[in-house]
Amino acid sequence: MKIGLIAHDKKKPDIVVLAKKYRDTLAQHELYATGTTGKLISNETGLNIHCMKSGPLGGDQQIGSMVADNLIDLLIFLRDPLTPQPHEPDISALLRLCDVHDIPLATNFKSAEVLLLALKSGVVSDNNL
Ligand code: PGA
Repeated sequence: MKIGLIAHDKKKPDIVVLAKKYRDTLAQHELYATGTTGKLISNETGLNIHCMKSGPLGGDQQIGSMVADNLIDLLIFLRDPLTPQPHEPDISALLRLCDVHDIPLATNFKSAEVLLLALKSGVVSDNNL
């Protein structure tokens, strides 16, 4: 399965915790991330990640384009709802495309855990998503 991983700056520690906790599960899938998030997760976990541009420099749009082309099956985007982001339009566009294409999307830590637990258990797989 192709999984997207993005975290705003204040949520980067959280996505590292998540990636470490579900490392074995994530390692079985193809991972894509915005630049800074991807490099950080890769450095902290050794996971192999395709890194796009940094979010504010177009990375969210690159992931959005993959969603539009049905090249992302699931997206974990740990958003910071308390800090204004300069690339807010790109973020809204990406979230919208996930809804347009019915892509499972987690925007907070616990929702991400629910999705990753479903993947880990095999309840969710390429066959039924
Ligand atoms: P980053 O981008 O992983 O390059 O920090 C995330 C974002 O802000 O959308």
